[in-house]
Amino acid sequence: MITNSSDNERCNTIAENLKRIRENIADAAVKAGRSENSVRLMAVTKTVDAEFINYSIDNCGVDLIGENKVQEFLGKRDLLHLNGVEKHLIGHLQTNKVRKIIGEVDMIQSVDSFHLAEEIALQAAKCGITAKVLLELNLDAEVTKTGFDSSGFFDSLEKISELKNIEVCGLMTVPPVELTGVELERYFDKIHSVYSDVKSKNLNGFNMQMLSMGMSGDYQIAVKHGSDLVRVGSAIYGARIYNK
Ligand SMILES: *Cc1c(COP(=O)(O)O)cnc(C)c1O
Repeated sequence: MITNSSDNERCNTIAENLKRIRENIADAAVKAGRSENSVRLMAVTKTVDAEFINYSIDNCGVDLIGENKVQEFLGKRDLLHLNGVEKHLIGHLQTNKVRKIIGEVDMIQSVDSFHLAEEIALQAAKCGITAKVLLELNLDAEVTKTGFDSSGFFDSLEKISELKNIEVCGLMTVPPVELTGVELERYFDKIHSVYSDVKSKNLNGFNMQMLSMGMSGDYQIAVKHGSDLVRVGSAIYGARIYNK
């Protein structure tokens, strides 16, 4: 429940932010010759208190949320008004936590190794479900972080397509933070062309329909380059406060 006036003010800001971001997304889509409703908005809710997430769901039409950490999501889930809301895991997932999250989210966007895909397939089979996932691709091999690098990625596609109980619905990417301007546009473009490539392969168990790219600082650029789903956190809820 929102009771005090500073919380109230924060809620108003969240509502205004969402309105503006949706307008920006629609504008960017139309400018790129796409329909204004062609891009989904995910509200990234990591570190955000349940009351503000609920406000955005109940009053601002948020119908898709993203969380980074298994523990954090499972810890606050019971406080959230999740009826009719899709939940995606977007943060790095350790294989030993797969068991805990399988069946609890609608999609795992952060599949960054064959090993992880294999474990997801195994645990999904145990639950009698097919897990929907995106493959996280990182085209900047010089920077070590999460995501398949391009050689590992192409090598893994065939192997992943042989797994049961896992459905690859598309790609996700987080561009290296240092990329800006033309370089960033090029990066998004490259990811988009890999996405189209993979889609045209019609691999078994792949149902490519979603390219997840764009965050608070670059979602309009990502939409320009073909993103179907933008993941926006701080531009909605304000700067994150860690370690509360
Ligand atoms: C935190 C996070 C986001 C949202 O970041 P903002 O810059 O706050 O919009 C998007 N995607 C992933 C994978 C994240 O970890």
